[in-house]
Amino acid sequence: MRAVILPGDKKVVVADRQRPEPKPHEVLVQTKVSAICRSDMSLYYGNPIVGGEAAETGDVIPGHEAAGVVVAVGDAVTGVAVGDRVAAHLAVGCGHCEYCGAGYTMLCPDWKCFGFDFPGGDAEYFTIAARNALPLPEHFSFKAGAVMTDMIGSQYHVQKKMGVSGNKTVAVIGLGPMGSAAVLVAKCFGARVIAVDILDERLEQARILGADDVVNSRDADAAAAIRELTHGRGVEIAIDCSGNPAGQNTALDAAAKLGCVAFVGESRATEINPSDQILRKLLTVVGGWYFPLGEWPEILRFIADNNVDVEAIISHEYSLEDAEQAFGAFDRRETEKAVFTWS
Ligand SMILES: [Zn+2]
Ligand SMILES: [Zn+2]
Repeated sequence: MRAVILPGDKKVVVADRQRPEPKPHEVLVQTKVSAICRSDMSLYYGNPIVGGEAAETGDVIPGHEAAGVVVAVGDAVTGVAVGDRVAAHLAVGCGHCEYCGAGYTMLCPDWKCFGFDFPGGDAEYFTIAARNALPLPEHFSFKAGAVMTDMIGSQYHVQKKMGVSGNKTVAVIGLGPMGSAAVLVAKCFGARVIAVDILDERLEQARILGADDVVNSRDADAAAAIRELTHGRGVEIAIDCSGNPAGQNTALDAAAKLGCVAFVGESRATEINPSDQILRKLLTVVGGWYFPLGEWPEILRFIADNNVDVEAIISHEYSLEDAEQAFGAFDRRETEKAVFTWS
């Protein structure tokens, strides 16, 4: 089968790989859609942000946001059958610890990440633990299935936790694909949304997705602009999807007293002023990262019952053979969500 390999240093190879065989508790999926994520850029540069030794080798097939059709199942699999449409939950856990028991497999001490620790979806086929094969009903496209995992699923989980609703104003900082998903989900929860980015075209896209106000933070003090839009009060909820220190500080500064800030954008280090930004405002700061297995049916209902056009966050589709072009364009932020598709 054809598969992408990211050896590092912005190299992209499309290679022939052995089609995997499902182990007893796994299913084999024929990939229909696999999305590129900002976190894949860490593999592209050769500096993986998740995953252990396997990710470090630069020889693992990337892609942790994938959907397709089950074409074979392992001997011990029950509840998933050949022909089922599925999306992959990226975290495979031990299945026995307290976190796995609660469905938070990404918190399992022994968890392995799809597309980082073991081969991902940027290939014609992938295998995944049957428990992680999330059912995708007919009324969802495979494209929707792929972006409803990491993008929509992560936002649904963190926004539900923060109580996003119609009596709240939410600032979304950083309008890449995760920020776009944040805008869609916050609007669907009924909140007023202020979108912040340094690129006008991304602000324009946020407006199309439903943002009520937009702020270009390139030359303006975004936190001050947000306070101006909220009667000097600040927002009840700020979500940083940028992962950069300026964006993270904007989120903390823009939040109202007793407000809540989520850090969702991946980042390794930042400098903040806890006394002024958090203590004196009695802020709640939360981490947002993916969703527990059991929340998937709720995410499906939320999207379907509210007619949310989740495919709207996708701007580019590529054939796997054009992977080099796809990763390059995504890296240069010339795309919103970019996906590989197979007919
Ligand atoms: Zn992702
Ligand atoms: Zn576990």
